[in-house]
Amino acid sequence: MWLVNTIAALREKRRALSGRVALVPTMGALHRGHLSLIDVARTLADHVIVTVFVNPTQFGAHEDLARYPRDLGADVKLCEAAGATGVFAPSVDEMYLPKVPACEVVVPAIAADLEGRCRPGHFDGVCRVVLKFFNICEPDLACFGRKDYQQLVIIQAMVADLHLDVAIAPCPTIREGDGLAMSSRNRFLDDDQRRHAIGLHHALREAESMVHRGEMDPAVVENAMSRIIRAHHMDVEYAALRHPMTLRALDSVDLSMIGSAVALVAGRMGSVRLLDNRVIEPV
Ligand code: AMP
Repeated sequence: MWLVNTIAALREKRRALSGRVALVPTMGALHRGHLSLIDVARTLADHVIVTVFVNPTQFGAHEDLARYPRDLGADVKLCEAAGATGVFAPSVDEMYLPKVPACEVVVPAIAADLEGRCRPGHFDGVCRVVLKFFNICEPDLACFGRKDYQQLVIIQAMVADLHLDVAIAPCPTIREGDGLAMSSRNRFLDDDQRRHAIGLHHALREAESMVHRGEMDPAVVENAMSRIIRAHHMDVEYAALRHPMTLRALDSVDLSMIGSAVALVAGRMGSVRLLDNRVIEPV
Protein backbone atom coordinates (compact mmCIF):
# COMPACT_ATOMS: atom_id res chain seq x y z
CA MET A 1 0.00 0.00 0.00
CA TRP A 2 1.31 3.45 -0.85
CA LEU A 3 1.15 6.69 1.14
CA VAL A 4 1.39 10.04 -0.67
CA ASN A 5 1.17 13.61 0.60
CA THR A 6 1.05 15.70 -2.57
CA ILE A 7 -1.59 16.11 -5.25
CA ALA A 8 0.99 15.52 -7.98
CA ALA A 9 2.04 12.20 -6.43
CA LEU A 10 -1.59 11.16 -5.90
CA ARG A 11 -2.42 11.88 -9.56
CA GLU A 12 0.50 9.76 -10.68
CA LYS A 13 -0.67 6.86 -8.49
CA ARG A 14 -4.26 7.34 -9.70
CA ARG A 15 -3.24 7.22 -13.37
CA ALA A 16 -1.56 3.86 -12.78
CA LEU A 17 -4.76 2.28 -11.40
CA SER A 18 -7.00 0.31 -13.74
CA GLY A 19 -10.53 -0.77 -12.89
CA ARG A 20 -12.96 0.89 -10.52
CA VAL A 21 -11.62 3.18 -7.82
CA ALA A 22 -13.44 3.89 -4.55
CA LEU A 23 -12.70 6.84 -2.30
CA VAL A 24 -13.09 6.79 1.50
CA PRO A 25 -12.70 10.36 2.83
CA THR A 26 -11.79 10.55 6.55
CA MET A 27 -10.27 12.89 9.10
CA GLY A 28 -8.12 10.06 10.48
CA ALA A 29 -8.03 8.70 14.05
CA LEU A 30 -9.50 5.67 12.36
CA HIS A 31 -11.79 3.23 14.18
CA ARG A 32 -13.91 0.26 13.14
CA GLY A 33 -16.53 2.57 11.63
CA HIS A 34 -14.00 3.92 9.13
CA LEU A 35 -12.64 0.42 8.46
CA SER A 36 -16.15 -0.80 7.63
CA LEU A 37 -16.27 1.88 4.91
CA ILE A 38 -13.05 0.44 3.47
CA ASP A 39 -14.64 -3.04 3.58
CA VAL A 40 -17.70 -1.81 1.68
CA ALA A 41 -15.46 0.05 -0.78
CA ARG A 42 -13.49 -3.13 -1.48
CA THR A 43 -16.68 -5.00 -2.39
CA LEU A 44 -17.65 -2.25 -4.86
CA ALA A 45 -14.31 -1.39 -6.49
CA ASP A 46 -10.94 -2.79 -7.54
CA HIS A 47 -8.97 -0.17 -5.62
CA VAL A 48 -9.61 1.88 -2.50
CA ILE A 49 -8.02 5.27 -1.80
CA VAL A 50 -8.40 6.53 1.78
CA THR A 51 -7.90 10.23 2.43
CA VAL A 52 -6.73 11.29 5.89
CA PHE A 53 -7.11 15.04 6.31
CA VAL A 54 -8.33 17.08 9.28
CA ASN A 55 -10.11 19.72 7.23
CA PRO A 56 -9.80 23.15 8.89
CA THR A 57 -12.59 24.78 6.85
CA GLN A 58 -15.26 22.58 8.41
CA PHE A 59 -14.36 23.64 11.97
CA GLY A 60 -15.71 26.83 13.53
CA ALA A 61 -13.44 29.31 15.33
CA HIS A 62 -14.23 27.90 18.79
CA GLU A 63 -14.32 24.23 17.86
CA ASP A 64 -11.88 21.38 18.50
CA LEU A 65 -9.62 21.65 15.39
CA ALA A 66 -6.42 21.97 17.45
CA ARG A 67 -7.15 19.00 19.67
CA TYR A 68 -8.76 16.77 17.03
CA PRO A 69 -6.92 13.41 17.39
CA ARG A 70 -4.18 12.81 14.82
CA ASP A 71 -2.13 9.62 14.44
CA LEU A 72 -1.17 9.12 10.81
CA GLY A 73 1.22 6.24 11.61
CA ALA A 74 -1.55 4.17 13.21
CA ASP A 75 -4.04 5.16 10.48
CA VAL A 76 -1.70 3.99 7.72
CA LYS A 77 -1.22 0.59 9.41
CA LEU A 78 -5.01 0.18 9.79
CA CYS A 79 -5.63 1.09 6.15
CA GLU A 80 -3.01 -1.40 5.00
CA ALA A 81 -4.47 -4.18 7.18
CA ALA A 82 -7.95 -3.34 5.82
CA GLY A 83 -6.74 -3.80 2.25
CA ALA A 84 -6.67 -0.20 1.00
CA THR A 85 -4.61 0.46 -2.14
CA GLY A 86 -3.28 3.79 -0.95
CA VAL A 87 -3.58 6.64 1.53
CA PHE A 88 -3.60 10.32 0.58
CA ALA A 89 -2.65 12.49 3.55
CA PRO A 90 -2.02 16.03 2.28
CA SER A 91 -0.99 19.09 4.32
CA VAL A 92 -3.36 22.03 4.76
CA ASP A 93 -1.29 24.14 2.34
CA GLU A 94 -1.44 21.38 -0.27
CA MET A 95 -5.26 21.39 -0.14
CA TYR A 96 -5.77 25.14 0.35
CA LEU A 97 -3.17 26.91 -1.79
CA PRO A 98 -2.17 29.96 0.25
CA LYS A 99 -2.07 32.34 -2.74
CA VAL A 100 -5.26 31.20 -4.48
CA PRO A 101 -8.56 32.91 -3.57
CA ALA A 102 -11.16 30.61 -2.06
CA CYS A 103 -13.90 29.18 -4.26
CA GLU A 104 -16.85 27.95 -2.24
CA VAL A 105 -19.58 25.46 -3.04
CA VAL A 106 -23.01 26.98 -2.40
CA VAL A 107 -24.64 24.37 -0.20
CA PRO A 108 -28.39 23.60 -0.14
CA ALA A 109 -30.63 25.34 2.41
CA ILE A 110 -30.88 22.23 4.59
CA ALA A 111 -27.18 22.75 5.42
CA ALA A 112 -28.14 25.70 7.64
CA ASP A 113 -30.26 23.50 9.93
CA LEU A 114 -29.40 20.83 12.56
CA GLU A 115 -25.58 20.45 12.44
CA GLY A 116 -25.33 23.64 10.40
CA ARG A 117 -27.29 25.59 13.02
CA CYS A 118 -24.87 24.44 15.74
CA ARG A 119 -21.82 24.68 13.49
CA PRO A 120 -22.34 27.60 11.05
CA GLY A 121 -20.34 27.13 7.85
CA HIS A 122 -19.58 23.48 8.65
CA PHE A 123 -21.09 22.07 5.46
CA ASP A 124 -19.47 24.77 3.31
CA GLY A 125 -16.15 23.35 4.47
CA VAL A 126 -17.27 19.74 4.06
CA CYS A 127 -18.57 20.23 0.50
CA ARG A 128 -15.52 22.24 -0.52
CA VAL A 129 -13.05 19.61 0.65
CA VAL A 130 -15.08 16.67 -0.66
CA LEU A 131 -15.34 18.31 -4.10
CA LYS A 132 -11.57 18.90 -4.02
CA PHE A 133 -10.98 15.22 -3.18
CA PHE A 134 -13.32 14.13 -5.98
CA ASN A 135 -11.42 16.35 -8.45
CA ILE A 136 -8.03 15.17 -7.24
CA CYS A 137 -8.73 11.44 -6.89
CA GLU A 138 -11.32 11.02 -9.69
CA PRO A 139 -13.04 8.08 -7.98
CA ASP A 140 -15.82 6.04 -9.58
CA LEU A 141 -17.54 5.93 -6.20
CA ALA A 142 -17.14 7.25 -2.69
CA CYS A 143 -18.25 5.76 0.63
CA PHE A 144 -19.89 7.89 3.34
CA GLY A 145 -21.24 6.76 6.71
CA ARG A 146 -24.89 7.11 7.66
CA LYS A 147 -23.50 8.11 11.07
CA ASP A 148 -23.23 11.62 9.58
CA TYR A 149 -26.70 11.48 8.08
CA GLN A 150 -27.10 15.16 7.21
CA GLN A 151 -23.64 15.18 5.61
CA LEU A 152 -24.64 12.21 3.46
CA VAL A 153 -27.85 13.95 2.30
CA ILE A 154 -25.94 17.14 1.44
CA ILE A 155 -23.15 15.30 -0.43
CA GLN A 156 -25.78 13.40 -2.42
CA ALA A 157 -27.42 16.74 -3.32
CA MET A 158 -24.05 18.24 -4.36
CA VAL A 159 -23.24 15.23 -6.55
CA ALA A 160 -26.67 15.28 -8.20
CA ASP A 161 -26.92 19.05 -8.69
CA LEU A 162 -23.35 19.54 -9.97
CA HIS A 163 -23.52 16.38 -12.13
CA LEU A 164 -20.44 14.89 -10.51
CA ASP A 165 -19.57 11.53 -12.02
CA VAL A 166 -19.20 9.76 -8.66
CA ALA A 167 -21.58 7.18 -7.19
CA ILE A 168 -22.22 7.68 -3.48
CA ALA A 169 -22.35 4.51 -1.36
CA PRO A 170 -24.07 5.07 2.02
CA CYS A 171 -22.64 2.76 4.72
CA PRO A 172 -24.22 1.57 7.99
CA THR A 173 -23.24 3.00 11.38
CA ILE A 174 -20.87 0.79 13.36
CA ARG A 175 -21.54 0.78 17.12
CA GLU A 176 -19.92 -0.30 20.36
CA GLY A 177 -21.48 -3.30 22.13
CA ASP A 178 -23.91 -1.11 24.09
CA GLY A 179 -25.03 0.80 21.00
CA LEU A 180 -22.86 3.94 21.20
CA ALA A 181 -21.97 4.99 17.65
CA MET A 182 -18.22 4.81 17.11
CA SER A 183 -16.58 8.21 16.76
CA SER A 184 -13.06 9.58 16.81
CA ARG A 185 -14.24 11.87 19.62
CA ASN A 186 -15.34 9.01 21.93
CA ARG A 187 -11.74 8.73 23.18
CA PHE A 188 -12.19 12.08 24.97
CA LEU A 189 -14.98 10.70 27.21
CA ASP A 190 -14.05 9.79 30.79
CA ASP A 191 -15.61 6.65 32.32
CA ASP A 192 -18.64 8.45 33.69
CA GLN A 193 -19.26 10.34 30.45
CA ARG A 194 -18.81 7.15 28.46
CA ARG A 195 -21.54 5.45 30.53
CA HIS A 196 -23.92 8.36 29.95
CA ALA A 197 -23.08 8.81 26.25
CA ILE A 198 -25.42 5.90 25.54
CA GLY A 199 -28.27 8.36 26.25
CA LEU A 200 -28.26 9.36 22.58
CA HIS A 201 -28.88 5.78 21.50
CA HIS A 202 -31.61 5.36 24.13
CA ALA A 203 -33.31 8.56 22.95
CA LEU A 204 -33.34 7.33 19.35
CA ARG A 205 -34.73 3.94 20.35
CA GLU A 206 -37.46 5.60 22.38
CA ALA A 207 -38.33 7.80 19.37
CA GLU A 208 -38.70 4.68 17.28
CA SER A 209 -40.93 2.89 19.77
CA MET A 210 -43.11 6.00 20.25
CA VAL A 211 -43.67 6.23 16.49
CA HIS A 212 -44.34 2.50 16.31
CA ARG A 213 -46.87 2.86 19.17
CA GLY A 214 -48.69 5.43 17.02
CA GLU A 215 -47.37 8.81 18.22
CA MET A 216 -47.75 11.16 15.26
CA ASP A 217 -46.81 14.51 16.78
CA PRO A 218 -43.11 15.19 16.03
CA ALA A 219 -42.88 17.68 18.92
CA VAL A 220 -43.95 15.03 21.44
CA VAL A 221 -41.29 12.62 20.15
CA GLU A 222 -38.63 15.36 20.03
CA ASN A 223 -39.37 16.42 23.62
CA ALA A 224 -39.11 12.82 24.80
CA MET A 225 -35.70 12.45 23.10
CA SER A 226 -34.46 15.68 24.70
CA ARG A 227 -35.60 14.54 28.15
CA ILE A 228 -33.72 11.24 27.82
CA ILE A 229 -30.53 12.96 26.64
CA ARG A 230 -30.68 15.46 29.54
CA ALA A 231 -31.29 12.62 31.99
CA HIS A 232 -27.89 11.29 30.84
CA HIS A 233 -26.19 14.56 31.86
CA MET A 234 -25.79 15.83 28.33
CA ASP A 235 -26.72 19.24 26.91
CA VAL A 236 -29.07 18.80 23.98
CA GLU A 237 -27.96 20.55 20.80
CA TYR A 238 -30.89 19.18 18.84
CA ALA A 239 -33.33 16.29 18.91
CA ALA A 240 -35.34 16.24 15.71
CA LEU A 241 -37.63 14.01 13.73
CA ARG A 242 -37.40 14.73 10.01
CA HIS A 243 -38.21 13.56 6.51
CA PRO A 244 -35.53 10.97 5.60
CA MET A 245 -34.67 12.40 2.16
CA THR A 246 -35.16 16.16 2.50
CA LEU A 247 -34.58 16.49 6.27
CA ARG A 248 -37.51 18.90 6.33
CA ALA A 249 -39.59 19.19 9.51
CA LEU A 250 -42.71 17.00 9.54
CA ASP A 251 -46.27 18.15 10.31
CA SER A 252 -47.16 14.62 11.31
CA VAL A 253 -45.20 11.37 11.59
CA ASP A 254 -47.50 9.24 9.49
CA LEU A 255 -45.22 6.49 8.15
CA SER A 256 -47.98 5.22 5.84
CA MET A 257 -47.70 8.62 4.06
CA ILE A 258 -43.95 9.35 4.22
CA GLY A 259 -42.59 5.77 4.20
CA SER A 260 -40.03 6.36 6.95
CA ALA A 261 -38.67 9.14 9.15
CA VAL A 262 -35.26 9.90 10.59
CA ALA A 263 -34.56 10.89 14.17
CA LEU A 264 -31.37 12.93 14.60
CA VAL A 265 -29.72 13.93 17.86
CA ALA A 266 -26.64 15.84 18.96
CA GLY A 267 -25.53 16.33 22.53
CA ARG A 268 -22.64 17.87 24.35
CA MET A 269 -20.95 16.19 27.26
CA GLY A 270 -18.45 18.58 28.78
CA SER A 271 -16.38 19.63 25.78
CA VAL A 272 -17.20 16.54 23.72
CA ARG A 273 -19.87 16.79 21.04
CA LEU A 274 -21.59 13.56 19.97
CA LEU A 275 -24.21 12.87 17.32
CA ASP A 276 -26.29 9.95 16.16
CA ASN A 277 -29.42 9.16 14.17
CA ARG A 278 -31.89 6.38 13.47
CA VAL A 279 -34.10 5.79 10.46
CA ILE A 280 -37.56 4.75 11.61
CA GLU A 281 -39.19 2.30 9.23
CA PRO A 282 -42.77 1.05 9.49
CA VAL A 283 -43.15 -2.07 11.74
P1 AMP B 1 -14.75 11.37 9.96
O1 AMP B 1 -13.35 10.86 10.01
O2 AMP B 1 -15.42 11.45 11.30
O3 AMP B 1 -14.90 12.61 9.12
O4 AMP B 1 -15.59 10.26 9.19
C1 AMP B 1 -15.19 9.80 7.92
C2 AMP B 1 -16.28 8.90 7.37
O5 AMP B 1 -16.48 7.81 8.27
C3 AMP B 1 -17.64 9.62 7.23
O6 AMP B 1 -18.26 9.17 6.03
C4 AMP B 1 -18.37 9.14 8.46
O7 AMP B 1 -19.77 9.15 8.30
C5 AMP B 1 -17.86 7.72 8.58
N1 AMP B 1 -18.03 7.23 9.96
C6 AMP B 1 -17.65 7.83 11.11
N2 AMP B 1 -18.03 7.09 12.18
C7 AMP B 1 -18.67 5.99 11.69
C8 AMP B 1 -19.31 4.86 12.27
N3 AMP B 1 -19.37 4.71 13.59
N4 AMP B 1 -19.84 3.94 11.45
C9 AMP B 1 -19.79 4.09 10.10
N5 AMP B 1 -19.22 5.14 9.48
C10 AMP B 1 -18.66 6.08 10.25
